[in-house]
Order: sequence, then structure tokens, then C-alpha cells
Amino acid sequence: MAVPFRRTSKAVKRKRRTHFKLAVPGMTTCPNCGEMKLSHRACRACGYYKGRAVVTVAE
Ligand SMILES: [Zn+2]
Repeated sequence: MAVPFRRTSKAVKRKRRTHFKLAVPGMTTCPNCGEMKLSHRACRACGYYKGRAVVTVAE
């Protein structure tokens, strides 16, 4: 089995990890109320999806 010839330096390790970022979930604005919401899901603020109320939101 191949074994690393040299220990990876802190700088090389840190430079590699600059490409390693948290992904932001796909967010869009609700066309009904303008709140940020997850795409392909009913709005958490007003309960609308595809232009009609699909869930009732407790105020
Ligand atoms: Zn909404």
C-alpha cells in the first residue's frame, strides 16, 4: 500500500480546505408575502404554495 512520503504541512492542508464550504440551501422569495422560503416547499410564513393556501399557519 502506498504511504505518503511527507507529512502534509499546515499551510497545504488549510489551502485545500478553502474549497470546503457550507452549502446554502436553495432559497427564494415567496410570491405571496415576500418572505424567504425554501424552493419547492410551502411558505412557512403564509402557508402558500403555487398561488393557493395549502397549509394554515398558526399566528
Ligand atoms: Zn409566503
